[in-house]
Amino acid sequence: MPTKQESLKGLGAKFGGTVRKRYARVFRKQKAKRACPSCGSLKFRRIAAGIWKCGICSFKVADGAYATTTV
Ligand SMILES: [Zn+2]
Repeated sequence: MPTKQESLKGLGAKFGGTVRKRYARVFRKQKAKRACPSCGSLKFRRIAAGIWKCGICSFKVADGAYATTTV
């Protein structure tokens, strides 16, 4: 039986290739810096699924679970 190449860390063999690819894309999006729509600082980040909060002005917004619509 041929062994498969594991390239992405953080996700076990639990998921198939398609899910892994999707995860990689989402993960990159999450890591990308986003500017706060209120004050423009880059401390704007996801605190929970669909909830984004700014660390400077505490601006909070409910948006996409993995990435804001404003990229
Ligand atoms: Zn802000």
